[in-house]
Amino acid sequence: AGSHQSPLLNGLNPQQRIAVEYRGPALLIIAGAGSGKTSVLTRRVASLIDSREAWPSQILAITFTNKAAAEMRERVKALLGQGADGMWISTFHSSCVRILRREAEKAGLTTNFSIYDSSDTRVTLKRIIKGLDADTLGFTPANVSSKISKLKNELADVDSYSRNANMSDPQEVMFVEIFRQYTKRLRDASALDFDDLIGETVYLFRAFPQVAALYRRRFRHILVDEYQDTNHAQYSLIRELTRPVTAEIAEEMESQGLHVRNVQDATGTIPGASLTVVGDSDQSIYAFRGADIRNISEFERDFPGAQVVLLEQNYRSTQNILSAANAVIGHNFDRKDKKLWSADGPGEKIVGYTAYSGHDEAQFVADEIEALHSTGMAYRDMAVFYRTNAQTRALEEILVRAAVPYRVVGGTKFYERAEIKDALAYLIAVANPADELALRRVLNTPKRGIGPTTETALGSFAEANGITYRQAMRDAAALGLGPKVTGSILQLAGLLDEAALKLDPENPAGVANVAEILSFVLEQSGLLAGLRNSRDPQDEARAENIEEFVAQTKDFNRENPDGGLVDFLTQVSLVAAADDLDDESGTVSLMTLHTAKGLEYDAVFLTGVEEGLLPHQMSAGEPGGPAEERRLFYVGITRAKKRLYLSLAMSRAQFGEVNVAMPSRYLQEIPAELIDWKQSPGMANSRGGTQPRALNARRDGYGFGGSSGSRGVGSGSDRVPAGLPPAPKPKTEWANRITAQVRDNGDLTLEAGDRIRHVDFGDGRVNQVTGEGTKRIAHVQFDTSGAKKLLIKVAPIEKI
Ligand code: ATP
Ligand code: MG
Repeated sequence: AGSHQSPLLNGLNPQQRIAVEYRGPALLIIAGAGSGKTSVLTRRVASLIDSREAWPSQILAITFTNKAAAEMRERVKALLGQGADGMWISTFHSSCVRILRREAEKAGLTTNFSIYDSSDTRVTLKRIIKGLDADTLGFTPANVSSKISKLKNELADVDSYSRNANMSDPQEVMFVEIFRQYTKRLRDASALDFDDLIGETVYLFRAFPQVAALYRRRFRHILVDEYQDTNHAQYSLIRELTRPVTAEIAEEMESQGLHVRNVQDATGTIPGASLTVVGDSDQSIYAFRGADIRNISEFERDFPGAQVVLLEQNYRSTQNILSAANAVIGHNFDRKDKKLWSADGPGEKIVGYTAYSGHDEAQFVADEIEALHSTGMAYRDMAVFYRTNAQTRALEEILVRAAVPYRVVGGTKFYERAEIKDALAYLIAVANPADELALRRVLNTPKRGIGPTTETALGSFAEANGITYRQAMRDAAALGLGPKVTGSILQLAGLLDEAALKLDPENPAGVANVAEILSFVLEQSGLLAGLRNSRDPQDEARAENIEEFVAQTKDFNRENPDGGLVDFLTQVSLVAAADDLDDESGTVSLMTLHTAKGLEYDAVFLTGVEEGLLPHQMSAGEPGGPAEERRLFYVGITRAKKRLYLSLAMSRAQFGEVNVAMPSRYLQEIPAELIDWKQSPGMANSRGGTQPRALNARRDGYGFGGSSGSRGVGSGSDRVPAGLPPAPKPKTEWANRITAQVRDNGDLTLEAGDRIRHVDFGDGRVNQVTGEGTKRIAHVQFDTSGAKKLLIKVAPIEKI
């Protein structure tokens, strides 16, 4: 009686309380999404400090991302009412960097060692492969780096690997040689790659028990979130950190003035740190990077005496959302069945939307975001998820037009991506021969041996002779450069001139449209082919983005049959410049499904729920691929607190082509009564004709109702248009158009009461104008299309 209960336990359910209050060697919390795993971890940290059982400096909490680390630090601070300096809350990688910098000398490194990112690794491997002529044996930087990474995640180094390698196989011999040279180069450069950070720390601890003892003595409580996604190296690191320090070493430490008395037990040993791990095997989505679910399933064997806590109640989502999640994940076999439940009641139904196109889908998302916002939901409480980065282009374009403030989490906005800027620079260089910036950008992209000195020399030459940079390129022969460089410059200048000629209305071959110009420069420059052939996953993503950009120009051509290159560039630059809208209710978050892990939002839009995207075509054929993609879908669904939207497009411009898309197989796994299907109004209008077979087969409940007729996919005749008004007819003075005024509504003066006409939405009345300058927004009630917000600068509107 009278026992004082810490406010840190307030509101916790009995299992959560056990987890927070447990004081023993090892604790495993396994539970489904949203059951409070991360919250419990955070409360444990706060409770250990609050009860003075641990100093902040004795705690090491490991999160999966830096963002999650920052959030946890904030929450601990809020719970304690004070900061907790000295506590380590960080990712595996940053913890290891800290340790290695401190112990650099012992690890055989300089304290200022560099960290190679994946592109540094690739470049290094490329050189080694070239030097060994290993490309003829099929070795590429991509396949070698992924193999080396897998080995390092298993804590294999070149020596241990070669001992077991079959050295009568020339492929193996070559791989070992590449691995050896790579290891040496990094050593010589005092550099570590990402995987080394973990492995080297483990080796350090194993080679220097005294060093390991320092950290074992220091960290008395180690807590790991998202344990299901740890790989073998990370697991080993945890094991090293949680081992006891022998009495002998402890005494040695004491004699060196490192106080250990307070952490020694009766035998003089420093017992291993207490370890807490939390995880959910249904959310394991990094097997492709070597994550091993066995780390969870074998925890009790590895840490005898471990307490296991199961959490069952979900506090995040409404029951409809959870039932959908349960049903989907239930299709993965080989798992412990656990069902999430909520005390919050069924909540709203999930909204399904079958769009005609990616644009149509984006418009739906934007409209729903605005509808939610008008009911009082803050933008920061909404998120849009997608499987691949290339999907953001259509979303971003529509969100900008609808004046929805957004940011891309863990990624770059479409037009800020380097490869898109490269492709754009080519178009700008074609359109505007005077644009030195664009010319300099394309000069050595892709690499053609034109260095920075030459780049500058061309500029000085242009200035000295009063000619444009482009003219200087044409006259490159006069610069006295080497024949190879001169040839490269002339070739590029020729390419750009030839492309520009295609824009000349006098050209007997006819005027090329934007997509044709883009394809021409991509082909002739080798930009896209270079990325495609590199086979590196990152370059693959870059190629996908460029292909998405090609698709965008095709869309533009369809929507603006008379639109030229300058009109296109104008549209792009307006969209690109109109970002960073701010709103007191924050911004909508856009991110990939992988990035979404651990996060939660009131409303979630899960887009592109189609075969080929989810599951992604690359994993569909891999063993375990569809099951891992299902977990990814499960992760996405379980981020939603109140509202979940699942959308797909019947046709999607992807990889430069408009393809018929099929609903994801996972949609069938959700009980039909949980989803309220809607479809594109455009689809409901068109009747007659035969339905595509695949769609017909799914007419039950997937929004492909009997009313959706056939159409030539990609004909675009009645797709939801999203472009600017038709461009003016080309003038004969085609060169003038290149410096033509940027079309821009920026100075359109609108006020409440004005009537306007919008290309897509028809006539409407302005209710209000907010914001300033380029960020002015018209709030319009359309006669037939409902209420919309429009960014005036880019809106295709006129006053009537
Ligand atoms: P995930 O598997 O997605 O990482 P999780 O298990 O880590 O989820 P948390 O993010 O910790 O779950 O918690 C989900 C939500 O439930 C959070 O908003 C959290 O504040 C809330 N929550 C957790 N426990 C309780 C509780 N006992 N009472 C009320 N809300 C709770
Ligand atoms: Mg969590």
